[in-house]
Amino acid sequence: MSRLAIPPDMKRQVRQRCGFGCVICGIPFFHYDHIVEFSEVHEHTADNITLLCGTHHDQKTRGLLPRAIVERANASPVNQNSTSTPSHRLMTSVGEAANFVIGSNRCCTSEHTHYSPTIAINGLIVLGCAYEDGYILFDTDLYDSNGNRVLSLRRGEITVSTRVMDYEQVGPNIIVRDHFCNEPILDVTFAPDGLTLSRGLFMGPNGFIHVLPDLLNMNGLIVKKSESLGAGRCAFNLDQRQLIFRSYNFVGHSMLLDGRQFESCTFVGCHILQALEAPARLNACYFSDCTRLNLNSPPTIFYPRSQMHASRKA
Ligand SMILES: [Zn+2]
Repeated sequence: MSRLAIPPDMKRQVRQRCGFGCVICGIPFFHYDHIVEFSEVHEHTADNITLLCGTHHDQKTRGLLPRAIVERANASPVNQNSTSTPSHRLMTSVGEAANFVIGSNRCCTSEHTHYSPTIAINGLIVLGCAYEDGYILFDTDLYDSNGNRVLSLRRGEITVSTRVMDYEQVGPNIIVRDHFCNEPILDVTFAPDGLTLSRGLFMGPNGFIHVLPDLLNMNGLIVKKSESLGAGRCAFNLDQRQLIFRSYNFVGHSMLLDGRQFESCTFVGCHILQALEAPARLNACYFSDCTRLNLNSPPTIFYPRSQMHASRKA
C-alpha cells in the first residue's frame, strides 16, 4: 500500500512526548521511527512513533538495536526529566568565512584566526563565532520574551530547551514555538558557511535584539536590509541605545532609527547624524547621501521590553 506522510499534528505530539530529542540519547536531531515497522502495522499512530537520532535509527534499522530497548526508552525518554537536551556538535559549519543573515541584514566575517563577534549588546557578545580546523563554531543564546533560554550554541555545540511548546527540526532548519504566540519565536537555518536567523530574541545587559524576518529591532532601533562586511569586528553593537558599527563597510538600504528613516545610505562621511539628538545617535559611522532622511516617518515597530511582556500577557 502507498505510504502517506505522518500528519504534522501527530509529529508534534510525538516530539512533545519524546522531549524533542532521541529517546535513547536525547540529542535534538532526530528521525521519526515506527517502533513496530510500518510494513507490519500499515498505519501511523502517535503511540507507535518515536524519535531516534541518526545513529540509533540506523542501528535499529540494521537490527543492532532491539525493539524492546526502543520501547523502553520510548516509555521513559531520556529528556523527560531534563530542562534541556544534551549538547550536540553541529558539523554543518565548515568554511573560510561566516555569512550571517539576521532579519534581512547580512553580515560576513572572514577572519579565520580570531574570534568574530557579530552582535553585541552593551559589551556582551550575543552572537559570535570561532574558527577551528576549518569549522565555524557558533556561540549564541536565544530567548523567549520571558527571558527563558530556548536554544544555545557553545563553540558549535547545540542544546535546546525541552520546556518549549514545540521544537521542530527539518533538514537544516529549526523552528521553536511557545504557547503564547502564533508565530514561531525562533526560526534559524544553518548553512555550510553560516546561518540565517529570521526569528529570534537576543538578550544582554539592559538591552535586547528582536529579530523578525525583515528587520532587527535593537531596543527600538530598527535596522533592515543592511550589509556589513568585515573581519573580526562587530557588525551590530547596541550600547546604551547607541548603535555602533566599527570600521565596517556598511551599506544600508533602509534604516529606521527612532522614527527617522534612512534610505539608500552609503554611510560615508555623513554629518547629519552627528546633529541628531541623543539617544538616536550613531557613533563611529560614516553616512552620506542622507538627503533622503525622512523625519516624518514613524517607526514601523517599537518593542520596549516592558511592552513585549505586556503584549505577551494580553
Ligand atoms: Zn540517539
